[in-house]
Amino acid sequence: MAEGLALRDLTGDAAAAPVALLGMSKASLEAYFARLGEKPFRAVQVMKWLHHRDADDFATMTDLSRALRARLEAEATLAMPEVVQDHQSKDGTRKWLFALADGQRIETVFIPEKDRGTLCISSQVGCALDCSFCATGKQGFNRNLTAAEIVSQVRLARRALRDTDFGRPKPITNVVLMGMGEPLLNFEPVLEAISVLLDDLGYGISKRRLTLSTAGVVPAIRALAGRTDVALAISLHAPTDELRDQLVPINRRYPIAELLDACEAYLEKLGEWRSITVEYTLLAGVNDRPEDAEALIACLARLRERVKLNLIPFNPFPGSGYARPDARDVRRFQERMMAANYATMVRTTRGDDIDAACGQLAGAFDDRTKRRTRYLARLRDHGEIIHGQSGR
Ligand code: SAH
Repeated sequence: MAEGLALRDLTGDAAAAPVALLGMSKASLEAYFARLGEKPFRAVQVMKWLHHRDADDFATMTDLSRALRARLEAEATLAMPEVVQDHQSKDGTRKWLFALADGQRIETVFIPEKDRGTLCISSQVGCALDCSFCATGKQGFNRNLTAAEIVSQVRLARRALRDTDFGRPKPITNVVLMGMGEPLLNFEPVLEAISVLLDDLGYGISKRRLTLSTAGVVPAIRALAGRTDVALAISLHAPTDELRDQLVPINRRYPIAELLDACEAYLEKLGEWRSITVEYTLLAGVNDRPEDAEALIACLARLRERVKLNLIPFNPFPGSGYARPDARDVRRFQERMMAANYATMVRTTRGDDIDAACGQLAGAFDDRTKRRTRYLARLRDHGEIIHGQSGR
């Protein structure tokens, strides 16, 4: 907290911060143009320039008046993160490391498949939830992303795919909020970004192909149901509270029964034909034994017909202390769940040669110490006193 406030003080008056148009929903743009005394259809024009025609410059927006262009030039911004690295995996998976304006780093991953192209985007720098088997959690939490930073990941990925894949670029058909961070702890910016991604004036992603994944922030799942009906995935990972308390610490606050209640409420919003994805990372000897499968069958019984179970063999990272189960154990677990009538998929591991697989994203990690040191030095230069430094 103290860091955030201090940083804003250093960068000047918060009210003068440029308006980040890339992250604004149609409704927000309409409200903004109304404040400027402009007609609501300016929102439509600007969205098309930004998201369809990929404009980088107000000068090209020739259907806006010269005066409006000048005004936008003065008070709005189209700034995007910078591409620091662009890795391509043997299996075609792409991973980008982006630097944000304040030097923080995030990762975004594109996973091409025969019938679709899935972009996995981040919602925070780091994550506060500290799930025991996740590399992002190990780096701690830095800050929330803005809606513009979330939308920019899609925009930049689309641009990179187009620029490097001449002729037949793979389109982004699916977006999953499964990168770094807990999307439901960055609620309003995530919803604003979702609105841009769903909008035909934005990226036109179908609500069935846009998935928000959460570790189980129960009140936020309930609030989400009042605001959208995108696809939902929950990170269960354990069939009992005793085990889940250890793997997914937020379970101590919102135990499994409450999480499943919230899922039922969300399912009501989705209607009869849609389901929720339950993610279950298989950790050798921890939650992948036959008795764990039996416990999971019992745990999910009340949602059985409404869930798709997604088994994720653990993706290792240095010092994790966990191991990936044998393929045989994964298959055994899947077969048991299928025999109990659970629709069960094993998520194939993609991009692990470039550390792009689930739970391996740690974009801010390399830089964190240096960033922090630079930041502290800058504060000292400005004669600031830092209160409430976190212990990290
Ligand atoms: N914060 C969101 C998004 C996280 S990433 C959430 O918790 O749902 C998407 C999935 O990858 C989550 O289910 C997460 O628990 C899982 N995951 C994290 N680390 C992993 C690892 N090392 N191996 C396999 N899956 C992992």
